Amino acid sequence: MADQKEVRVRVAPSPTGDPHVGTAYIALFNYVFARHSGGKFILRIEDTDRTRSTRESEEAILRALRWIGLEWDEGPDVGGPYGPYRQSERVEIYKEYAWELVRKGRAYPCFCTAERLAELRAAQKQAKQDLGYDSLCRSIPPAEAEARVKAGECHVIRLAVPDEGETIVPDRLRGELRFQNALIDDQILLKSDGFPTYHLANVADDHLMKITHVIRAEEWISSTPKHVLLYDAFGWEMPEWIHMPLLRNPDGSKISKRKQPVSIDYYRDIGILPEVLLNFLALMGWSMGGDRERFTLDEMIAEFSFDKVTLGGPVFDLEKLSWLNGAAIRELSPRELLERLKAWRLNDDFLLEVIPLVHERVRRLDEFIPATTFYFAGDLDYANVPELVPKNRDARETAKLLEAALEIVDANPNLDKEILETRFRDLAAAHDWKPRELFMTLRVAVTGRTVSPPLLESMQVIGREITRRRLRQAAAFLKGA
Ligand code: GLU
Repeated sequence: MADQKEVRVRVAPSPTGDPHVGTAYIALFNYVFARHSGGKFILRIEDTDRTRSTRESEEAILRALRWIGLEWDEGPDVGGPYGPYRQSERVEIYKEYAWELVRKGRAYPCFCTAERLAELRAAQKQAKQDLGYDSLCRSIPPAEAEARVKAGECHVIRLAVPDEGETIVPDRLRGELRFQNALIDDQILLKSDGFPTYHLANVADDHLMKITHVIRAEEWISSTPKHVLLYDAFGWEMPEWIHMPLLRNPDGSKISKRKQPVSIDYYRDIGILPEVLLNFLALMGWSMGGDRERFTLDEMIAEFSFDKVTLGGPVFDLEKLSWLNGAAIRELSPRELLERLKAWRLNDDFLLEVIPLVHERVRRLDEFIPATTFYFAGDLDYANVPELVPKNRDARETAKLLEAALEIVDANPNLDKEILETRFRDLAAAHDWKPRELFMTLRVAVTGRTVSPPLLESMQVIGREITRRRLRQAAAFLKGA
């Protein structure tokens, strides 16, 4: 065993939104494989998309992965021998590697302007050709290209993808996947601002961080031939490729927040136990054998093998998750359940957020719980609150406004009170609704009541995940779905 390479795997989320259940799912398989093999599990932040990446999102991802119980051995916050683990801090490294490929003749600077590319695209569209870069700048003599770069001309660096032949991706779960090189575009490796694209940064880092197995979701399969070409161009040894089946909505489409909550925080907020969420995510891609559905992380680590990965389209089914959670809750002792409830929302911090909102409204302590149920509940029942739809408005139209309100909430994840207030007022005005009408609809959707503590503050306490879910559920209720 001594000469066998240490297993090193990574999860490489892009911090561009909420901590996604898909990230937890992929992290789980990487983690379990690392632990099973006595290797290392690495967390790398792929934040090269400067317009969409935020530190807030990064922090939320780290927090959520810790909540669920997947600790990493190396990462941006804990460090490690191959850092930094945040790609935005490695920009100089990628530049060097991009230029190394240029010197080797495997990549080239491209000076095409946005206008030229737009014209090319339009012409290709019209001629019903495949869209893609036509490799024009590949034919510029290297010395001329170098001089133009030196003179400061705006450029990107592109990979010179062979025009002929095929690229083979050996996938552990799927066998050899073959891709025609002619259909692969000359990928941009380095953007004009000097930032790398996903392909270059991902491959350079996997190499430099000595990653032995790339375990990621199926949706990256189309990128992998480009990565294989990059490994070849650099002359580096490839990691093993393992593309896990994608999580799906009940209708079979790729899991998406349009159809159901995808944020790990949502599942935390509705009181799914972290170990149950892991168990559930494990079932999405793996079976323990037999019809055993409930197992612990340690049991999964002990039994793990890629041979038991199932390739069908796993459906992320909330009913099934709730069932598993119920089974786990029943096994807790009353005191353990109490501890879980405290860790969830029955704690001083959360109660101190709720109390100021109802302080003025309770005359007796026994009114506190009835006055505050919607801060603790998940989905609400709208059947007995006809005020969800204002008088003389119809259900469809109201559903549309609820959906528009949901988009406003999505765009303002911090639920900033002033911003939401203004946006909601604008929304009402745009549809010729009185603000009063819209706020009543929102109040009923979010609290299930016609009279409640201040709505916007309440949304903040309920949290954005459950707030979003209720807006979506209320709209669905009105559409009769
Ligand atoms: N940054 C990519 C993501 O967001 C990483 C994909 C990969 O694992 O290569 O999932």
